[in-house]
Parts: sequence; structure tokens; C-alpha cells
Amino acid sequence: MSSKETKPAHKKKKEPKKEPKKETVKKETVKKETVKKETKKKDEEEKDEDPKEEIFDEIEKFEDLEIDEKIIRGVFSYGFEKPSPIQKKAIRPVLSGRDVIAQAQSGTGKTATFVLGVLGRVNVAENKTQALILAHTRELALQINNVFRQIGNYMDIVFNLSIKGVSTSENIDALCKKPRKPHIVIGTPGRILDMINKRALQVNTLKMIVIDEADEMLSEGFVDQIYNIMRTMPAKMQVCLFSATMPTNFFDVTAKFMQDPVKILVKAEQLTLEGIKQFYIDVQKNSYKFETLCDLYSLLTINQSIIYCNNKKVVDDLTYRMKDANFSVSYIHGGITPDEREETMAAFRSGSTRVLISTDLLARGIDVQQVSIVINYDIPNNVENYLHRIGRSGRFGRKGVGINFATHYDVEKMKNIEQYYETHIEEMPEDISAIL
Ligand code: AMP
Repeated sequence: MSSKETKPAHKKKKEPKKEPKKETVKKETVKKETVKKETKKKDEEEKDEDPKEEIFDEIEKFEDLEIDEKIIRGVFSYGFEKPSPIQKKAIRPVLSGRDVIAQAQSGTGKTATFVLGVLGRVNVAENKTQALILAHTRELALQINNVFRQIGNYMDIVFNLSIKGVSTSENIDALCKKPRKPHIVIGTPGRILDMINKRALQVNTLKMIVIDEADEMLSEGFVDQIYNIMRTMPAKMQVCLFSATMPTNFFDVTAKFMQDPVKILVKAEQLTLEGIKQFYIDVQKNSYKFETLCDLYSLLTINQSIIYCNNKKVVDDLTYRMKDANFSVSYIHGGITPDEREETMAAFRSGSTRVLISTDLLARGIDVQQVSIVINYDIPNNVENYLHRIGRSGRFGRKGVGINFATHYDVEKMKNIEQYYETHIEEMPEDISAIL
């Protein structure tokens, strides 16, 4: 669904003699199985016959982006000095209007990649909703909303957050009743669909949609909602997908609503996070986990940590037992109210609570830089979530540690994780203080 716009200077063909940088992003042709419209099919055939390569130069510094200097000011005042590898490669393709699939290791700056791309594409002089950003949880939507507002601080731009917890009438007012329409809407799929159905969100003026944690959004739990949203979108619209993990069937699904995307991908074995040490503790049985956890916490002075469990009940039980043993912990899962979730997150982000017990609700995207340890109290049921969970520590090059509580039943799961990421998870040494 790329829009065909005049080519900016950076998209023009390169000088033949100039060596392309090693990591230059090239267009990849994707086999399409389904496309919505006949015209698109035709376009595609033409493209396949004429495989012109579009090369996007990596940027070296933010100023290399040909965008409003107010955005660049916003980036610097947010504290970023230089672009991260994903930002070097992927902002320009997003700015170009082409469909984009971008993958990067957890914690390496995906959010700012699309924030800059979207801010650069939006025309603030037009009083229209132009970009829609979808996140799978309200916590992630709030976090993205915050990055947009901070980096867009010097622009005269209107944002809207459409998530559960904001009253429906307030949401409708902000989307369509105020004199100024939001240029950018950030939301979760359920609320966005509701706002589309109520005709509050004006989809016909959208020129781009960004889906964060895209593989999760296109998995069973969300895919129908995403299809329903996509069905309402204008035909000529840019689609950008971001995630750290992209399982094999991901590309079959994306082919259904993307056109000739620029792909920036990372091999699975390159995904295990540099700077994050991974260990397992052989706890043998579930019933030994709690004692092991208490021992661990009594030995460590941990800055902030997240303990992941595989379901709400384990989160509730563990919270109860830890509080009972005088540990100061907080907990979060999908079963508590939006207000409680917000309070818990605010306390954890500010550092006033230091241990957070969670389900996979918070496995993805959440960025709290002080988190140095992630404990898998239960080993996750899929390889993708393993990476997302341990990626909550070691944000943006900081050091982190992932500790896995493995029972006899987890041997197979641990082997799968090691094989998938071609990594080795060592047994936790006796003297843990030396490594933490
Ligand atoms: P993300 O992968 O978007 O969740 O970002 C991970 C962390 O890296 C966040 O705390 C960002 O604020 C930080 N970050 C992203 N890009 C940069 C950059 N270019 N310079 C410094 N920090 C960054």
C-alpha cells in the first residue's frame, strides 16, 4: 500500500562508484498470495517484471534526515545523541512512504524509529488524522504516546490516545468533535476498532499505520481485530510493522495487506541480547521455586527486577507469598483494572517499587531502564516470549541478567530456546554475587 510520492533526494539512485555500505537496506521482492484489489495485483506484477532496486542510505546522524528541524530538536532534547543501528537503517524507509517491516533486538530503539518516521510524514498544517499507531497493551500505548509527545514537543501537533480506561465519550470528543483533529492517534486494537465503528476515528484521511509488536498483533489473539481494522483503511496507505521477533508464518500474514515492503531483518541467532547474561537454576519441582526465589533475593542487591509467571494465578499466589515473607513487591496482569495497572506501572517506573511480578502482559515493549534482572519463575511457553521477557533487562546496551527457574519438565523448553537462538544458557554459579 505504498504511496507513490515524489522521490526525496535520499531515495534517488546511488552513484555507481560509491560503495554501498555493508548494511544498506535493499528492496526485497515478496511473493504475494493475496492482495485486496485487482489494481494492486497489476502493480505488483509490473514491479516483479521490473525489479528496480531502491537503496536507502543509512544515516550517520539525526540531522541527515530531511525532516523538520523541530523534530531533530525534540530528539536531542529527549537525550538522544546518535541514532541506534535500527534508527540508522529504518527511519528513511518509513519516511519514504514505502511499506516497511523492521526487526531489531529488544531495547535498541524501535519506538523512536517509527516516532521519527511518523512525525516526519505528518503535515501539521492539515487538520486531519494522518497516522495510526497500534500497540497490543495499554501500557505500551501509553509509553509510545509519551515518546511521541516528548520528541514532538516543539511541533504544533495534536496527539490522541485511544485505549481502555479513557472514557468513550472523551475519546470520541478528542477524535472528531474538537476543532483540531489529532494528527496522530495511538491506541490498542479493541478501542481503535470501536472508535472506527462509531465513526469517531476518521480513517479516510489516514496515510499510514504502524503496528508495534507486530507478530503478537498478527497472532491468534489479535489477528481478527487487526484484519477488521485493516479492512476499513484507505487502499493507498503505508503499512509499517515493527517487532523484535518474527516467526516463520508472520510473512504469510503480512503479505495479505502489505505491498512490496522494505524489510530490515535480523537472524534469530543474532537476536539473543548482547550484554544480557542468561542462567538457569535447576529448581527440580514447582514447589521448590518459592524458596529459591527468596534465597536469591536475600543474596542480591538488585536494582529493579521483573519476575515473569505463565499465568495470573501464579502471579497472584506468588505476590501473596512474597508479601507474606516481607518482600516489597507489586504485581500486574490482565485481570486488574486499568487504573490499578496504571498506578502499578507509575510506581515501578519511578522506582518506588522495585520488584514487579507479571504475566506476559508486560513481556513486550515495556522500557524501564533500571531493570537489571529478569527472572523467569516459569519458563515461557514460546521462544519469542523468552526473548521479549529477558529483553526487559539490558535496555539500550546496559548490562542485564536473565535467570530461568527450570524444573524437570522444562528441560525440553530450555533446549528449544537454546537451539532457536543458538545460545547457551549456563547453570547459575554458586557465587552469584560475582556475576551480578
Ligand atoms: P525501545 O527499543 O524503543 O524500547 O528503546 C529502548 C531504550 O533505548 C529506550 O529507553 C530509549 O529511550 C533508548 N533509546 C532509543 N534510541 C536511542 C538513541 N538513539 N540514543 C539513546 N537512547 C536511545
